[in-house]
Amino acid sequence: MSDEHRVSLSSKLPYKYMSTSIKDNIAQIKERISNAALKTGNAPEDIKLVAVSKTVSESKIREAIACGITILGENRIQEAKRKINVIGKPVCWHLIGHLQSNKVKHAVALFDLIQSVDSISLAQEIDRRAKKLNKVMEVLIQVNIGQETTKHGTLDNELMEMLEMVSALNNVSVQGLMAIPPFMSVPDDSRPYFCRMRELFELASCQNIPGVNMRYLSLGMSHDFEVAIAEGANMVRVGTAIFGARHRASPV
Ligand SMILES: *Cc1c(COP(=O)(O)O)cnc(C)c1O
Repeated sequence: MSDEHRVSLSSKLPYKYMSTSIKDNIAQIKERISNAALKTGNAPEDIKLVAVSKTVSESKIREAIACGITILGENRIQEAKRKINVIGKPVCWHLIGHLQSNKVKHAVALFDLIQSVDSISLAQEIDRRAKKLNKVMEVLIQVNIGQETTKHGTLDNELMEMLEMVSALNNVSVQGLMAIPPFMSVPDDSRPYFCRMRELFELASCQNIPGVNMRYLSLGMSHDFEVAIAEGANMVRVGTAIFGARHRASPV
């Protein structure tokens, strides 16, 4: 999505995002997650909520943590580093944005899960840096499910080969898949992409690749997380609907 689009989208947010209280927003999101989970026969606690805090101030993040948020998602290394230094680790921090190889060293030291691993060479660099820190870095493989030139991720026909290769890395542990499908103004239109991701997730689980755990399927954002859960997501990444519209455009 272009920054231009993101700004115009924010200015047209429906009333349900206009609530001023982070506390109320989180309560509402959690209830909607519960309802969506129950409809698919899942327990509400099986769905992980990642509060996307990019561009959000530290005081608002603390407020969200006080309201029970346990996972925060950031997409820029410098910004995350500053926040993690002051807020620390009463919560888990996930990297959800594209990672450049020259920043892997910092990312491995800072994050509990890197959701945006999109190439074998990036996984290899993460492995090398994690080894030095004596850490096993948990990651999700990002799939470019809409095959968009503007988005990162492995193509779905390359996923199995990538999983095989990453499984050979001792200091990287695959925990599932992540995708950001093409933006659809009507959330239901994202269903085929979510559905295909669910198929890939199940296919990957069936391969029983040693060292690859298919625990998390990270799909769905503020405007479409209920559809994502209906199609099998067990991790959703929600920013705007918790913290309100972002004023500074932030690259996906
Ligand atoms: C910003 C971002 C989100 C959250 O988007 P909202 O529409 O504000 O909920 C989710 N996932 C990724 C990868 C993002 O960059």
